[in-house]
Amino acid sequence: MSDCIFCKIANGEIPSATLYEDDDFRVILDLGPASKGHALILPKSHAANIYELPEELAGKAMILAKKMAGKMTEVLKCDGFNIVQNNGEIAGQTVFHFHMHLIPRYEGDQVKLGWTPGTLTDEVRDELLEKLK
Ligand code: 5GP
Ligand code: ZN
Repeated sequence: MSDCIFCKIANGEIPSATLYEDDDFRVILDLGPASKGHALILPKSHAANIYELPEELAGKAMILAKKMAGKMTEVLKCDGFNIVQNNGEIAGQTVFHFHMHLIPRYEGDQVKLGWTPGTLTDEVRDELLEKLK
């Protein structure tokens, strides 16, 4: 993907504040951080979203997220941690190259993630079980 900014960053064509790199991934600091230490896991090969991401890379990305969360929590002394991954504009995706957000959380921070809980009706539960199970 010649016009994809995260392809260029992941493959080192555009410099970035890199926390970690291996053959498959680069982990960079987000330029618009939600909190101190907010980082992004970028695969080096292009996949627009989780639907396009090969299973093998999906597995490796989760293992890397776990490693980064452990190290960042130890070093930054954060109080909690969110791992966020958006797919599609409606879901908040703005860069269409798969990435995982690593967001350290601190007591009293102003990070806003979340939703207003609805109600799972019997009808919808049964419909979803029938279609998805
Ligand atoms: P999304 O909304 O697609 O899940 O997340 C995109 C993220 O990429 C945002 O948090 C945004 O701040 C970050 N971002 C966008 N462009 C750049 C860039 O050129 N460099 C870095 N380091 N982060 C970027
Ligand atoms: Zn890309």
